[in-house]
Amino acid sequence: MTATLLNRRLVLLAGGQAALLAALARTPALAAPKFLDDPFALGVAAGDPAPDGFVIWTRLAPRPLEPHGGMPAEAVELGWEVAEDDGFRKIVRAGKALARPELAHSVHVEVAGLGSQRRYWYRFMVDGIPSETGTARTAPLAGAAVDRLRIAVAGCQNYQAGLFTAWRHISREADLDFVYHYGDYIYEGATAGVAAPGRPPVVRRHPDDEPYSLDDYRRRYALYKVDPDLRAAHAAAAFLPSFDDHEVENDWSGDLDASSTPPEVFLLRRAAAMQAWYEHMPVRMGQFPHNGAPRAYRRLDFGRLMRVNMLDKRSYRSIRLCEKPGDGNCVDRRDSPDTMLGAEQERWLGDGLNGGATWNMLGLGGLVMPFDRSAQKVPSNGYDNWTGYPDARERLVGMIQDRKLTNVVITGGDSHMFFIGHLPSRRGDLESAPVAAELHATSISSTSSNGNPIGPDPRAATNPHIALIHDQRGYMLCDIDAAGWTSSLRVVDQAIALGGTVSTLARYMVRPDRPGVVKL
Ligand code: FE
Ligand code: CA
Repeated sequence: MTATLLNRRLVLLAGGQAALLAALARTPALAAPKFLDDPFALGVAAGDPAPDGFVIWTRLAPRPLEPHGGMPAEAVELGWEVAEDDGFRKIVRAGKALARPELAHSVHVEVAGLGSQRRYWYRFMVDGIPSETGTARTAPLAGAAVDRLRIAVAGCQNYQAGLFTAWRHISREADLDFVYHYGDYIYEGATAGVAAPGRPPVVRRHPDDEPYSLDDYRRRYALYKVDPDLRAAHAAAAFLPSFDDHEVENDWSGDLDASSTPPEVFLLRRAAAMQAWYEHMPVRMGQFPHNGAPRAYRRLDFGRLMRVNMLDKRSYRSIRLCEKPGDGNCVDRRDSPDTMLGAEQERWLGDGLNGGATWNMLGLGGLVMPFDRSAQKVPSNGYDNWTGYPDARERLVGMIQDRKLTNVVITGGDSHMFFIGHLPSRRGDLESAPVAAELHATSISSTSSNGNPIGPDPRAATNPHIALIHDQRGYMLCDIDAAGWTSSLRVVDQAIALGGTVSTLARYMVRPDRPGVVKL
């Protein structure tokens, strides 16, 4: 234990932190391993900022790909510090946390008591070894006027398809309030075979088979998290983590996978995958998995400027419509209305949608707006998205219209291409009035098509509600104030070799009093 941590602990005890004292007294027999390798090889992360704090996360894993990450099967105590400066001269909070073997020696500390809307630095310590330093901003106070927010939207990081260069560039974006990660944090695929003509390149390989057990998923997360570009992004800003299909298995929905596995069997796999998701994400106890399922949908407020509705579009959905008759895990017709969010989450969304903020962000993951693919270039996953759930989409439109909201921005990703446009108001009428802007980000590294060249997609021309479809790796950077929400489409020139550079492809503006997008 360092002198700083010891002093801080004594201060906390003197301050009447009886709960901490009790927790320390309950501490089980601890291991105090001597680390020959960096115990913080998976880096650090912060997440889910509130006005008085945020979650800080790490996982002890000195040998990330070995069983248990190279840790003994015992609890290990580590220290944490939060400071007002990156040199840790003014430490404002500190404490101890238990890295438990049940949770792969991950820790999720919900730091509280910080000031609102300001930057802090944090780090962990074990066996006298400090972690790298991370930084995050707290949210504004409820009801506070906020000049501006800056966020990034990113996801779909297939390790085998490309380098995480886009994450490196996100780590260098100044003053991010948060990064919304819309999912596909890992991909479950086995080791890729030899790349073939007309197929996407294989840039690096998963070292093992498709994950099924908890340890399999932990190893997959460890592989991704040791990536230095992803580590840098986590150290640079708080994340709002979600998940999509590849955290478990391609195109799963509810208790069904894509290969007709009996639901009760698939649910065992889903529970293992979701525990691993919780263990590796900087999320709060509210997202802890119960009976194999985390509650991932939640709301975060950023003063009067923005309400963020984080939604779970996987866990509660009904079976989707088939794109072609007789496809795998889908139905050709339904005898009852479909649902994407499930009744309870849909009600929860409606109850909180009109909170009075200037902006209502819907973190919805996959593409919500309809998409006429008559000028077909490549197959895409339209029916896995809201196109396979037309009743749910109609109810979402109605929910926004009933509340007379003009300030809803739908954002996410999953198509591995930018889709910038709006959600039309009438079912089956792409030219009907806009209901909400949709800003759909491209992928960090996953490819959308079998090795097609990057660039604009001609299908935007046959979709009057879509301003742009563009296939290139990158992310979205959003500058949000009371007058407008400006999205910069950030693209890397390549993600195949080191050194990809970033540029802004285009910028689109949304106004809070007028749904739809305008090119700047
Ligand atoms: Fe993806
Ligand atoms: Ca996906």
